[in-house]
Amino acid sequence: MTTLTKEADVPAPRDGGSGDAFLSVRDLYVHFDTEDGTVKAVDGLSFDVERGRTLGIVGESGSGKSVTNLSILGLHNPRTTEVSGEILLDGQELTGAREKTLETLRGNKMAMIFQDALTALSPYYTIGRQIAEPYRKHMGVSKREAHLRAVEMLEKVGIPNPKTRVNDYPHQFSGGMRQRAMIAMALVCNPDLLIADEPTTALDVTVQAQILDLLKDLQQEFGSAIIFITHDLGVIANVADDILVMYGGRAVERGSVSEVLRSPQHPYTWGLLTSMPRLSGNVNEELTPIHGSPPSLLAPPSGCPFHPRCGYVDEVAGKSCTADRPLLPDGRGAACHLTAEQKRTFFVEQIKPRLS
Ligand code: SF4
Repeated sequence: MTTLTKEADVPAPRDGGSGDAFLSVRDLYVHFDTEDGTVKAVDGLSFDVERGRTLGIVGESGSGKSVTNLSILGLHNPRTTEVSGEILLDGQELTGAREKTLETLRGNKMAMIFQDALTALSPYYTIGRQIAEPYRKHMGVSKREAHLRAVEMLEKVGIPNPKTRVNDYPHQFSGGMRQRAMIAMALVCNPDLLIADEPTTALDVTVQAQILDLLKDLQQEFGSAIIFITHDLGVIANVADDILVMYGGRAVERGSVSEVLRSPQHPYTWGLLTSMPRLSGNVNEELTPIHGSPPSLLAPPSGCPFHPRCGYVDEVAGKSCTADRPLLPDGRGAACHLTAEQKRTFFVEQIKPRLS
């Protein structure tokens, strides 16, 4: 896990984006039919990502981060999954799009980097072939051209001796090199949207930093929009421009990285921050986990989904955390019934001192 230390570690805000969403998700619902009932994995989610910017989606396991992104890629089984809402990629509607259309877009216009390269790469084919094949398929080039492109991509992601290593199988690469190879595979067709799902979780901290730098460099070169999924706010601070905090299949807070990390507004975000190790902290200091468990997606709590774990329920006046669902405002904000003044005061007086 990356450590986040104090305000000084939060990057200065980058210039705001153009405001033109390359990917626009509106009122997305993803429900799975199971023997026990309907699992509401994503329950009314909206967000935008612009070209050249990185949106970090953060939340615990089961918060709906990965399910959201599999929906964008159209990778759910339509027989067991109901996806509704609007997913516009460069103006093109993906919800309900035909599999052939999605197949053309995957790898070409949008691509994904998975957490575990060893299971994402086939053990039966060389690294080079796995990079070259999608390029050949989408670009209609010859085998030789695709092979040269695979070598070029391996070089771009920093694999030494790419002309030789292109003929290696995945098991001949180290974990960090396999992750780089998967990035090369994802970027080979210059996708406009790159979805990275916990791409550095399995790597040691040094390699993790190298991979994050590589993604930033490649984004500058290709101008891709990136969605970066992680449970680690330290990683988000390093790579993202904007943050979406998810809880129980819903977005509970959003804003730019500097806004959310310098003045978070939602009690769940406060919990994520205070449960992280800090470089400046006392080594004997115990971390404060968020008590309780993530909500059941089969029978989500009424009102605010965070209320069974929230220590601020009694502070809310005029609304009921157990009955009234708080809405996430457009733009910067948090889905919480506390007043703006309460959010600011509780953060400054109770949370911030624990982060320094
Ligand atoms: Fe906590 Fe209530 Fe805010 Fe939900 S709405 S985060 S339960 S204070």
